[in-house]
Amino acid sequence: MANIEASGRTAERVRARVLAGECLVDGCADEPTRRGLCTNHYHRFRATLLSKGSAKARAEFEAETIRAGLVLPVGQVRELRNPNPFEVR
Ligand SMILES: [Zn+2]
Repeated sequence: MANIEASGRTAERVRARVLAGECLVDGCADEPTRRGLCTNHYHRFRATLLSKGSAKARAEFEAETIRAGLVLPVGQVRELRNPNPFEVR
């Protein structure tokens, strides 16, 4: 899953919501707990992911949702909140 991430305006929207402490799903006021999502939306994401028939389908679904700004890659919440000053972006 390395290097799959949202870009452009989607990345800006994701970053703003993470820094504001908001779930990535539009209209959701709940506090995010995992991967940028509140508990309810994280469980719905996981349930949809696990409903996919193969590892390849799951990987594709996860990449699509990350690029669409609907969920963050593993570790990105921490990275957005506490960027590494030594990493050139
Ligand atoms: Zn939510």
